Amino acid sequence: MKYPIIAYGDPILTKIALPLDQKDYPHIKELIDNMFETLNAAQGVGLAAPQIGKSIRLFVVDFSIAAQTMPELQDFKSVFINPVIIEESGDEWSFKEGCLSIPGIMEEVYRKPQIKISYLDENWDIHEENFEGIIARVIQHEYDHIEGKLFINKLTLEEEPSIQIELNNISLGNIEVAYEMKFPLSKKS
Ligand code: ZN
Repeated sequence: MKYPIIAYGDPILTKIALPLDQKDYPHIKELIDNMFETLNAAQGVGLAAPQIGKSIRLFVVDFSIAAQTMPELQDFKSVFINPVIIEESGDEWSFKEGCLSIPGIMEEVYRKPQIKISYLDENWDIHEENFEGIIARVIQHEYDHIEGKLFINKLTLEEEPSIQIELNNISLGNIEVAYEMKFPLSKKS
């Protein structure tokens, strides 16, 4: 089952999400499968639970759509429950990021290249791992979502005013998008 993706402007995207307790989520694998299905249908590489209307600390990453552009990453597919970024290191680097909740907007964002993260997987087993480069960046982007932050919050003051009109149109649903979305200010939904 696919979820509609929550568009920019919905307050759930700016809320700090709550940790998951195993006893409250006996069917978590079904939720995770549905998140992967939603992500793949939208042709993204990462999706956080707030983006499907659930304010919980869970996100999924899947690079299978990057088979053409980044073949070395195409097998990377992972679930992160209650993740904690323990450390970020290295010199910040810039990359053009986009977000399924903010379609059509791509902006350069600076982030540190290496992270150490602890998280639970879909079997509630704990992991501590290091990631770098693009995978680290996608994890940092998704982690920001469960902290109620969006990549556009990281832009400089010069860049921000120029995208305000586009952001408003996204909230209103005045955009063309190839996947199902829920627009907070739309008159239609
Ligand atoms: Zn995003």
